[in-house]
Amino acid sequence: MREREICDMATVIDGVRVAAEMRERAAGQVRELVARGVTPCLAVVLVGDDPASASYVNMKERDCAEVGITSLDHRLAADISQHELDALIDRLNADPAVHGILVQMPLPAHLDAESVMERISPEKDVDGFHPASLGRLVRGLPGFRACTPAGVMEMLRAYDIDPTGMRAVIVGRSTIVGKPMALLLLEANATVTVCHSRTKDLPAVCREADLLVAAIGRAGMIDASYVKPGAVVIDVGINRTDDGLVGDVDYVSVEPIASAITPVPGGVGPMTRAMLMVNTVAAAAAVE
Ligand code: NDP
Repeated sequence: MREREICDMATVIDGVRVAAEMRERAAGQVRELVARGVTPCLAVVLVGDDPASASYVNMKERDCAEVGITSLDHRLAADISQHELDALIDRLNADPAVHGILVQMPLPAHLDAESVMERISPEKDVDGFHPASLGRLVRGLPGFRACTPAGVMEMLRAYDIDPTGMRAVIVGRSTIVGKPMALLLLEANATVTVCHSRTKDLPAVCREADLLVAAIGRAGMIDASYVKPGAVVIDVGINRTDDGLVGDVDYVSVEPIASAITPVPGGVGPMTRAMLMVNTVAAAAAVE
């Protein structure tokens, strides 16, 4: 009962605020770089006219404008050939004025997303998806970290949540979220378990978590039966439903028992975009 009382007021982790602070800091670094003659530049490549992808790209370009990063907009027809896309990436790789390259995923099915990610020069891999970036993360070397899990780590830092010694459970093992999230939490001294669609008795595993990260893509799947009272709950999910944008966590049932929780929208999403700005500024600073 006492635990319940303590948790009645979960801290709502405000990704909008933390992301705004990160953009402000990035803008300060951009001003310093510009004063030294370097204007950070992000090339943004969008293939096709998927409305969700177009809206993500528009938001990223707005963030660039706010931070002072030049964005180079490349909007390509949905039927562009692999050869043409490869040629564009080669040109951007070779252009010294371009510091970061972002190819908005998913790509149309006829294009090979893996080879596109590998083609981007690791020095310009601000999304952190290149095998070299992931390899550096595994080895604990500096490098670009995937924006979503890196954004989660920034959120935890902003709220003084130290994963050291925590039992962290991540639901989802994708290369862009679950796996790098596991490595970052391991690096931060959590004891990490990664779950997926074949995990047996998922609610019981999740209930062991002091820190629970949901990166599944199933609206509201993680309800209170998955959550230990007092746990920190990070909801990476973005699901479009008839009720609007919702996360993977059933916020209404989980918020009363969590000690801290991220909302959707306004949680991890803005952090992902802010990390892209941070990575782009770092890419520009590295070649200065
Ligand atoms: P993927 O589809 O690549 O991965 C989903 C993972 O969830 C898989 O590992 C899958 O397991 C697991 N999973 C699916 N169903 C279940 C289930 N019933 N029980 C347990 N595990 C399950 O998704 P992403 O990692 O790309 O994205 C996850 C979510 O995060 C999505 O909602 C996406 O929109 C969102 N997202 C949000 C971002 C943000 O900025 N906030 C950025 C990126 C993604 P298995 O491997 O066995 O199939």
